[in-house]
Amino acid sequence: MRPAAPAAPAEPAVPTVPSLGAAAGAKAPPAAPAAQPGPTLTVICPDCQTRYKVPVSSVAKRFRCKKCQAILEIPPEAANP
Ligand SMILES: [Zn+2]
Repeated sequence: MRPAAPAAPAEPAVPTVPSLGAAAGAKAPPAAPAAQPGPTLTVICPDCQTRYKVPVSSVAKRFRCKKCQAILEIPPEAANP
């Protein structure tokens, strides 16, 4: 078999990067999101799967599920993801 014609050298791919000059002049958007009421964690009822958002200050406490009246315990490790 005849060798195929030598392929033309591929042009080096030039990644399109944004101009640094333009990026430097752009104003960064505010990093802080909307005001939050406070750090919370999600506790799911093991019986009815209802999700509750509780403040992290409630860690190691327990409360009653509003749907099935089950006692939900908030594990202390929940505050440390
Ligand atoms: Zn429940």
